[in-house]
Amino acid sequence: MDTSPPGVGTFLGTGAGSATYREAMDAAVDAVLDASASGPYSGETYDELEDEFDVDTLPDTGSDLTHVVEWVGEHVLANSVVTSDPTCVAHLQCPTAIPGLAAEAMLTALNQSMDSWDQSPAATVVEESMVEELCSLFGLPNAADGVFTSGGTASNLLGLLLARDRYVTETFGQRVQDEGLPPEASDLRILCSDAGHFTAQQSAAVLGLGEDAVVSVPTDDDYRMDPEALDAELARLDDEGKRPFALVATAGTTDFGSVDPLSALADRAAEHDLWFHVDAAYGGALAVSDRHREMLAGVSRADSVSLDFHKLLYQPISCGAFLLRDGSHYDLIDRNASYLNPEADEEAGVSNLVGKSLATTRRFDALKPFVTFQTLGREGVAELVDYTLQLADDVAELVERDPALELAADPTLNAVVFRYRPSQQHSDRETSEWVDTVNRRIRDHLLERGMGVVARTEVDGDAYLKFTLLNPQTTVDDVADLLVSVKQYGAAIESEVNE
Ligand SMILES: *Cc1c(COP(=O)(O)O)cnc(C)c1O
Repeated sequence: MDTSPPGVGTFLGTGAGSATYREAMDAAVDAVLDASASGPYSGETYDELEDEFDVDTLPDTGSDLTHVVEWVGEHVLANSVVTSDPTCVAHLQCPTAIPGLAAEAMLTALNQSMDSWDQSPAATVVEESMVEELCSLFGLPNAADGVFTSGGTASNLLGLLLARDRYVTETFGQRVQDEGLPPEASDLRILCSDAGHFTAQQSAAVLGLGEDAVVSVPTDDDYRMDPEALDAELARLDDEGKRPFALVATAGTTDFGSVDPLSALADRAAEHDLWFHVDAAYGGALAVSDRHREMLAGVSRADSVSLDFHKLLYQPISCGAFLLRDGSHYDLIDRNASYLNPEADEEAGVSNLVGKSLATTRRFDALKPFVTFQTLGREGVAELVDYTLQLADDVAELVERDPALELAADPTLNAVVFRYRPSQQHSDRETSEWVDTVNRRIRDHLLERGMGVVARTEVDGDAYLKFTLLNPQTTVDDVADLLVSVKQYGAAIESEVNE
């Protein structure tokens, strides 16, 4: 019987494996570079792609790896959105910084898992020091702690979970992780602005409180939570005998990049003994910028913070962090698994990060910002962020000056929301429905022709277009060209319907 292991040369660690690895990585890099050179999108529709991928995805027998990688390049990568293209400006989906890509290649190849120290020795220490550095960047005290997460969704859930458990423990002396929720839980309330992210509601649902437990606080004209409206909601909840326990502030709303007035909200949170969670998934990046950090004033008073590196900090997905003002609150969800974090390790001072996260097996994502900051420095990263904020201001000015376009609001970060205004000749059609239709079709036209990847959104029920200008390689001229296309298609759609 042949006792040599199967698949020799298919894994790292043998001579044959190493040669295969180099060859495959070279082919993968070539495929990525080819795809990146071909515009923002191929224009293929969903139906066309379904036809193209009518292949046997689980074949009984395999084929040569280099060929498979090439096939993926020609079919999958060629029909992917190219986030590094200057006209790929739809969502909070960033072009990836090359240091982050190098880190990603390294961390996935060695497959360290962050749940226990013996699966990630150096990685555990790197992540802990990265978290410590982030806590001090946000002005949190020495007792602060945190963990890397898959992103804002996971970070917001963890923040609200700890907020809920702290409240229930302090109010009812009941440990939710063991005993579940008390009957009074139906009165628990979370306050968040009406421009906040839907993951506040989603978290409330997952936490067994229901989405209706999230009280939506009105915003001002700049889409920031209105502190007086918050006072009114708190007074109402008090009258109704409800139990507000958490206030979620947003630093960087998805559509307008607005930053809630964090200091004023921190005052309310302190006054009413609410857990103050700052969702800085998008805007937290301002903390690296000497020019813009002031917009986050008050974040240092947060009980917990969500930060995404895979948005305005240019890291490959996924890469987020959760920061906790008082690390001892992790006791609320503490658990010991004898095979991952035995008490003996704790006594010996060895960290096993499993207790800080809702994930067990977890990626060494901290290496990506680590390599990026080592390479560019904080100031280098800040330059990227600062440039895009300036770009958004310049683009907003272009839009405002153009009678064929209408700006929804001044950008706070780098998202510009606007719409095409159909020309006066068609004033009879200028019902809001018609304006909506034209704008939606402009976005579809641009995508289907591979001219640009632009987002659509709604403002007070009306259709708008959105540029999220995360790419530091995009110039004002690139965006001006895109605006010309927006107007050309807009006019073409109008005359089409007119004929
Ligand atoms: C993106 C975003 C989230 C969700 O984060 P993911 O990284 O997508 O999980 C939550 N809140 C805000 C403000 C965001 O911008």
